[in-house]
Formats: sequence, C-alpha cells, structure tokens
Amino acid sequence: MSKGLEGNANRGVRELGAEEKVGWDEVTQGVVLHSFVGESKNAAFLKPEERVYNDFNSYTATVASWRVIKPIYNRDICIDCQNCWVWCPDTSIISRDKQMLGIDYDHCKGCGVCVEVCPTNPKSLLMFNEAADNDAELENWPVKEKKAK
Ligand code: SF4
Ligand code: SF4
Repeated sequence: MSKGLEGNANRGVRELGAEEKVGWDEVTQGVVLHSFVGESKNAAFLKPEERVYNDFNSYTATVASWRVIKPIYNRDICIDCQNCWVWCPDTSIISRDKQMLGIDYDHCKGCGVCVEVCPTNPKSLLMFNEAADNDAELENWPVKEKKAK
C-alpha cells in the first residue's frame, strides 16, 4: 500500500480517553466542536489525507483497541468492486480513485460486514483473530471453491 494514501500523519495517533475530559455539566450549551482546522466548507471534496482534522476528531484517535477479530485484505483476488467500502459502517475501508487499498485498523471495529459483502471466490477479505500475522495468513489464503457438478 502506498504510505501516502494511508491518511494524515495525525490519523490514529492518540488513544481515545487519554485526553483530559470535560464533565457533562461543564460543557457550554450549544458548543460546537469543529471537525477540521480552519476553513472546512470544501472538506467533502478533499480526500481524507488532504483534510486537516482537529485533535478532538475521532479520526486522530485509535478507537479500535477493544477489537478481537480483524479483517485481512488480499489484493491478489480483489476486483475493486467497492462493496466493502460502501457497506463498512465505520468508514474503515481505504479506497482511492475506485481502487481498494486496505483497512484502516485504527478505526475498524471487526464487525465482519466487509467480508460478508465481498463477492469474490475465495473472498478478498477474511476475518482472523486480532493477533494473527497478516503476511502469514495471506500465504495460507483459501483457494477457489469449485462448483459442484
Ligand atoms: S470489519 Fe467492519 S469496521 Fe472493519 S473494515 Fe470490515 S466492515 Fe469496516
Ligand atoms: S468487496 Fe471484496 S472484491 Fe470488492 S473491493 Fe472489497 S475486497 Fe475487493
């Protein structure tokens, strides 16, 4: 994967909860937490790695430390259909210019939806124990299942 497309340098740099919190009764009514630093009206037209996220945006935090299973992605089989990108409930599929690039492990919760919707045979995404070694699992990827005659 191209390093430059993995996201901003500040993606997933802090553990959620490590910062000092303000109590619910200390928050000023109507307070607005801006997601981006500075002008943000064109943020929707920028790729995530081009946006300047504020420190209290969850983009800058690792929010997946409790994940127990994870998807592993096999580029060799993927047909870039973008199904996983569309269905991931956590926006944790990294895709640029309609090409699937990998998983954002700082935000993926291990729900397995991406694996369910992947149409290839064998699947290009499979779920593994969180401690699994990605390279080793890719070496042992399942082979194509033949249709019963
Ligand atoms: S396991 Fe769930 S959260 Fe993680 S990339 Fe797949 S669909 Fe997204
Ligand atoms: S759903 Fe499967 S084939 Fe389609 S882009 Fe995602 S990993 Fe690739």
